[in-house]
Amino acid sequence: MTHIQPQLPYSLDALEPAISRQTLEFHYGKHEKAYIDNLNRLIKGTKYENADLTDIITHADGALFNNAAQAWNHIFYFASFAPDGQHEPSGNLKSAIVRDFDSVDNFKKKFVDAGANLFGSGWVWLSADNNGKLIITQGPNAQNPLRDNLTPLLTFDVWEHAYYLDYQNRRADALNKLWDIVDWKIIESRYH
Ligand code: MN
Repeated sequence: MTHIQPQLPYSLDALEPAISRQTLEFHYGKHEKAYIDNLNRLIKGTKYENADLTDIITHADGALFNNAAQAWNHIFYFASFAPDGQHEPSGNLKSAIVRDFDSVDNFKKKFVDAGANLFGSGWVWLSADNNGKLIITQGPNAQNPLRDNLTPLLTFDVWEHAYYLDYQNRRADALNKLWDIVDWKIIESRYH
C-alpha cells in the first residue's frame, strides 16, 4: 500500500499572513512530502507494508515511527486550518474547554505556552481522554498522543521549519497567529 499525500484544502497563499505561501511551499511541498516518501520507502518488506498509518504509529519504533508519525501529524495539522473557518469553539467542545481550562482565552494561552516552552522540535496537542476530559500535552520530535491512548483534537507544529521563514525565532508569535486560521468546526468534528 502506498500512502498518498493529501491535497491541501486551500490554496498556498490562502492562510496569509498567519502562514505565508513560501512557508507552505516548503512545509507542505518539501517537509511533509519527504516524511510520506520516507514512510513509503521504509514500510517495504516489513509487516507494516499494508498497515494503516495509525497502526504504524501506535506500534512501530525508530525511523519508521518517526516518519509515519510526522506524516500523520502534518496531515492532521494542515487539515485544521481554513481561511474563513469558524473562529471560535462552540457546542460540546466549547463547554469542555470552559470546564477543563476555565475559559477559551485561558485554554489558548496555556496551549501556546506549552508549545512555546517545548525545548527543541516537537508538537503541542489538545487531546481528549476516554472520558472526554481535555488535556494539553507537548512532545518532542514526532510524538503523537495516539501512543498514550488519547484522541488528538488539535496540534500546532513547533518545529522551526513551521515558522522560521515568517517569524524567525518568535515561536510564540507564530503560534498565536494560528488562532486566526484554526477552523473550530473541524476541531469539533474530532471530539466525540
Ligand atoms: Mn512540520
